[in-house]
Amino acid sequence: MTAILATCDERADRLGNRELVGSDATELKKRESIIAHCLAMNRSGLNQGTSGNISIRHGDGLLVTPASRPYDSLTPHDIVYMDMDGSHRGRWEPSSEWRFHRDILAARPDAEAVLHAHPTYCTILSIHGMEIPPIHYMLAVFGGPNIRVAPYAIYGSQDLSDVAVAALRDRQACLLEHHGMIAIGSSIGQAYWLAWELETLARQYHGALQLGEPPLLTEQQIQDVADKIAGYGLSDDKKEKSIHHADT
Ligand SMILES: [Zn+2]
Repeated sequence: MTAILATCDERADRLGNRELVGSDATELKKRESIIAHCLAMNRSGLNQGTSGNISIRHGDGLLVTPASRPYDSLTPHDIVYMDMDGSHRGRWEPSSEWRFHRDILAARPDAEAVLHAHPTYCTILSIHGMEIPPIHYMLAVFGGPNIRVAPYAIYGSQDLSDVAVAALRDRQACLLEHHGMIAIGSSIGQAYWLAWELETLARQYHGALQLGEPPLLTEQQIQDVADKIAGYGLSDDKKEKSIHHADT
């Protein structure tokens, strides 16, 4: 452990991270994790350009991607620290979507990370204002029988933040009309996994619609899956594993 901390400290020193709030190893790890997941979402096709953004709760605020910076140029000290009042510290301005990152983390104490992107099939459905109904049992991992669509509001606005928070009520993800999607998780890894599950569901729904109006599962059938995943009496650690293996 000491060796790991020393490595992080050395890296922070090497990067000259004077902007690091607290400059502890945990914060550096979160900053590195934001960059790693930004790169992963573009490499994997979940997102393109700099249209996506990621935040992780930190202390009394959050760490969030900077505005309009190419992901492959980001270093840990490019990530912006923001307090919940919107004031921020760092060399760049925060993502233009900082309002919904902040407001979601404020409204959802269960969430530690927020991921926003414009994946193709989620965005196709959002353009049509189509929520995802219970077409597949994996809807259960999102907290209910549907994925809602937040009504259109211009990017970066408080209106967009308000409709996004409402669409996420009791859910781990939502679509944003004529825009994209948001996924939240108890870690950035979980939010990233849910983002890909959501894009897969959107693609499956888009495909199923080609054959006509698809039959749906009932709310009870989705609840039964949720109950099975929750596994009464399981530890949080086992629950997490259970969720990740829900399709095996
Ligand atoms: Zn966007």
